[in-house]
Amino acid sequence: MRILVTGGAGFIGSHLCERLLGQGHDVICLDNFFTGSKDNIIHLMDNHRFELIRHDIVEPILLEVDRIYNLACPASPVHYQYNPVKTVKTSVMGTINMLGMAKRVRARILQASTSEVYGDPQIHPQTEDYWGNVNPIGIRSCYDEGKRVAETLMMDYHRQNGVDIRIIRIFNTYGPRMAENDGRVVSNFILQALGNHDITVYGNGSQTRSFCYVDDLVEGMIRMMECEGFIGPVNLGNPVENTILEFAEKIITITGSRSKIIFKPLPQDDPKQRQPNISLATDKLGWKPLVDLETGLGRTADYFAARSGKG
Ligand code: NAD
Ligand code: UDP
Repeated sequence: MRILVTGGAGFIGSHLCERLLGQGHDVICLDNFFTGSKDNIIHLMDNHRFELIRHDIVEPILLEVDRIYNLACPASPVHYQYNPVKTVKTSVMGTINMLGMAKRVRARILQASTSEVYGDPQIHPQTEDYWGNVNPIGIRSCYDEGKRVAETLMMDYHRQNGVDIRIIRIFNTYGPRMAENDGRVVSNFILQALGNHDITVYGNGSQTRSFCYVDDLVEGMIRMMECEGFIGPVNLGNPVENTILEFAEKIITITGSRSKIIFKPLPQDDPKQRQPNISLATDKLGWKPLVDLETGLGRTADYFAARSGKG
């Protein structure tokens, strides 16, 4: 198949491009390089089945493809809050453009949605039938509400125009090729630990997250795209839940760091708990994560260590 990956030069997108090429597909990676990087895909450039297009999905484009994975959107709070209006445009106008293309060329389209559609959840763990608890006017809203509208658009193009859609809700994912400057907890803590600097826990560290290794996520994404008769939304994530304080301690142990933990103010609207219920994914896709946190964090720390050694 000919497959378009928007946001293909980003963290998750680059792993997805690699896996799809490995399966023998033609892959078009489309990216405006806002948070992505050529470094993430440089190793794919010699493959004659790989093409790269510099383009912003806020502008229309027409490509003849069979599948569209719509990942283009900054994902870390630091990046999506840098230009919040642009973040909304990317999720809303960008998704309309990709859905328009899917409609014209009869491609199947998968939207990378997020656990953020549940906001600061009052149901725990989160199931797909929960409608969420999202602040519409806060500093995270550009991302959360943008992704919620993107889901609405997917469903309306499906109902109104018969577009073949899939929706996945991704929970915190980590691994090699995360941007070093993205301010997310995994990259921050690993870089701090490797440099023996203080580890910055926001709030008292009692908030929870559940971290999924990128290879597991990519497997779930492809299974969902190729699943017949099920459009989602479906949660994809690792249900193993940790407090952020426990997470900091784990990273210190794994990296053998001399770092100390310090506490900083909690950002506005920071969700207090997050854990996916993945029963639906297991039932419909036969999917569950296989890489445990220690193994995944070890690989991620090796990646960051190698990069800083290079620099
Ligand atoms: P990322 O920032 O590494 O990747 C996003 C990519 O999209 C980047 O390459 C960026 O340059 C590109 N991009 C941004 N705006 C664009 C635009 N207007 N036009 C074209 N390209 C654009 O982030 P990621 O972690 O790889 O996330 C990928 C997708 O998965 C995003 O849609 C994100 O919302 C979703 N997601 C990620 C996580 C996670 O934990 N990583 C969790 C939930 C959802
Ligand atoms: N966090 C932290 N220290 C950091 C970066 C993040 O304690 O240096 C916390 C943050 O407040 C949140 C959790 O870690 O509670 C996950 O943050 P991240 O930005 O990675 O993702 P999200 O909040 O979108 O899940």
